[in-house]
Amino acid sequence: MTDGPIAGVIFDVDGVLVDSPHERAWRESLRDLLATDWRGIDGAERVLATGLTTVIYQDHVAGKPRLSGARAVLDYFQLPSPDSRAPEYAACKQRRLVELIDDGQFSAFGDGLRFVLALKERGLKLAAASSSENANGLMAQIRIGPSPEAAGRRDAGAQGLALLDMFDANVCGRPVAQGKPHPDLFLLAAQELGLPPGVCLVVEDALSGVQAAQAGGMRALGVARLRDEALLNAAGADLVVSTLNAVWLDGIPQGRLERLLPPDIDAKV
Ligand SMILES: [Mg+2]
Repeated sequence: MTDGPIAGVIFDVDGVLVDSPHERAWRESLRDLLATDWRGIDGAERVLATGLTTVIYQDHVAGKPRLSGARAVLDYFQLPSPDSRAPEYAACKQRRLVELIDDGQFSAFGDGLRFVLALKERGLKLAAASSSENANGLMAQIRIGPSPEAAGRRDAGAQGLALLDMFDANVCGRPVAQGKPHPDLFLLAAQELGLPPGVCLVVEDALSGVQAAQAGGMRALGVARLRDEALLNAAGADLVVSTLNAVWLDGIPQGRLERLLPPDIDAKV
């Protein structure tokens, strides 16, 4: 683990700031393919019976670029011809994702928005670094309203800045040589913030993202919203919380990643 002050914070978007419909789009598009174009392939009935669960999604798909995510699902379920099916699954997932986004099937995490605003107030440089090119469209629709009540509203008529406007650098969806768990995207974010990796903190909810932060020589704050914290701790996150409200904000610029609240209170905040 790197020590010393933190000057920049790099945010994953999906699952950290935005409750986005990626997992649902992966699940529904797989089910649709197995019921139509892929009907009758080896293992179809078995996969339809299980479905793409949240645990499978978090462990194998979350945070990865689209094609890698598709391939990971096909490999996990040992479905035949993954090389040719992965692009088809990725395209089908993207179509379903766009439908869900257009239908407004997403929201902001309130603790994520408060965390962004609090770090900005403390003078830290902020970057957004999602593998997904859809992240910008989502963040443009989330308003950082003039009042706490307005924060997180999606209606475009609300006054104030959008979440997208909070960042000093934005590399969401930018092509890099290798996606998470490789550090390329986070290193690009640090570079665009004008900071060395060692003074950057990555905020991530996915195993692949924590691994990417580690590989890039950055500290990692894990947000375990959906399940226990063991996975992100095992990946080497410097601190894991179930809500960003539990983080001691004033410690961050000093490089002290500590809880404000004890773990048993965490889940109730
Ligand atoms: Mg994520």
